[in-house]
Amino acid sequence: KARNPHEPEFLQAVQEVADTIIPFTEVHPKYRKFKILERIAEPERVIMFRVPWLNDQGEVEINRGFRIQMNSAIGPYKGGLRFHSSVNLNILKFLAFEQVFKNSLTGLSMGGGKGGADFDPKGKSDNEIMKFCQSFMTELYRHVGADIDVPAGDIGVGAREVGYLFGQYKRIRGEFTGVLTGKGQDWGGSLIRPEATGYGVVYFALDMLATRGESLKGKTVLISGSGNVAQYTVEKCISEGAKVVTMSDSEGFIYDPNGIDQEKLIYIQELKEGNRGRIKEYAQKYGCAFYPGERPWKIKADIAFPNATQNELDEQDAKTLLANGCICVAEGANMPCTPQAILAFSQAKILYAPGKASNAGGVAVSGLEMSQNSQRYSWSREEVDAKLQQIMKRIHSICVKYGTEKDGYINYEKGANIGGFVKVADAMLAQGIV
Ligand code: NDP
Repeated sequence: KARNPHEPEFLQAVQEVADTIIPFTEVHPKYRKFKILERIAEPERVIMFRVPWLNDQGEVEINRGFRIQMNSAIGPYKGGLRFHSSVNLNILKFLAFEQVFKNSLTGLSMGGGKGGADFDPKGKSDNEIMKFCQSFMTELYRHVGADIDVPAGDIGVGAREVGYLFGQYKRIRGEFTGVLTGKGQDWGGSLIRPEATGYGVVYFALDMLATRGESLKGKTVLISGSGNVAQYTVEKCISEGAKVVTMSDSEGFIYDPNGIDQEKLIYIQELKEGNRGRIKEYAQKYGCAFYPGERPWKIKADIAFPNATQNELDEQDAKTLLANGCICVAEGANMPCTPQAILAFSQAKILYAPGKASNAGGVAVSGLEMSQNSQRYSWSREEVDAKLQQIMKRIHSICVKYGTEKDGYINYEKGANIGGFVKVADAMLAQGIV
């Protein structure tokens, strides 16, 4: 705390991991002796830079860019770029820290990193987005590379932004390499990458539900967010026979008691393309309720997928969900549930999965994109989807292995933390004090 006084989310993420790792290292003293946890909590490198650009009025704008290279013990740094007004060092350090464990859980060779800028793409023209991305990459290019650090998308960084970033990297370096993932399918992208996080979180939830003889069929589902992760979670839930009744954005949530079907989902995807529309327009179009400034957790449902942003589901929300009979919460976003909310879920012994386990599908398919780029070959949709399902099953079984309590309750948080830690820690031990 003394070292990172203005970094509450980073401290929250580290505390949450430390709470399960410290007891584990007590019975495995080699990790303690070589201060593995302390080293994992310190980024290998933090890069911070000025991003100047000209807006459509010809005025100079200045943003702050970042790349956190957190840990490279098991592979090149890997993690998304976030463009959002709330981005700062604290937020990106928390995300980079989480990424180390998540990437380890996938079983692929990827270290952890995260980056972005305090730039808000909402309301910006295509031209402004392109100029910003080009300026951002004009600095970032020195620090990344296919075998060094491979960024991807996150909040505010989708296919369009990855395209502009890739174009500028290629122009400066004069080489076509897999320096970014989430690329377009005609120029090195992987099939299923756009869907991967949303599909993955549903595959993970299905594995969790199966431990209790349940499925998604006929279940009522709450989803927050309406971006990339939320949209594909809805799609997979629909195909698994669930009824999704909410989606949200930073202005509020919509409640559609009839359920969001495939046709309505296509409307949302078109609405949200390029950050143009607001979710309240859905309520107007389909004549359902819109709750301004609220989050969807007060609606009665069986399952919740918090898929928007950090700390969007607090203790009170958790209690409301439990009182309404919720049996499963799987995080599509990173750290959307507060520590008090997580405590309420585990005390009630419902199924709860932390994002580092349940949302790992996105980075897993990014890892598969890197493999395809190295081979200069593309796998089919079916091949990638099958590999994604396998990876989510693997993560689930690691959580079961390390997280099953004496009474049989699966503590997915504990399982994900220990399972993610062991691989990175052993690599760090093998590589010496570096
Ligand atoms: P998008 O930018 O596509 O969508 C983000 C959604 O969350 C939007 O609906 C946005 O609303 C909402 N949102 C963002 N910030 C806030 C806020 N402060 N309060 C309320 N709502 C907010 O991002 P993604 O779908 O890619 O990411 C969503 C979450 O999933 C993030 O936590 C991200 O880190 C995580 N994640 C993403 C992965 C990926 O592959 N994309 C992989 C793993 C995790 P609005 O438009 O109004 O801002």
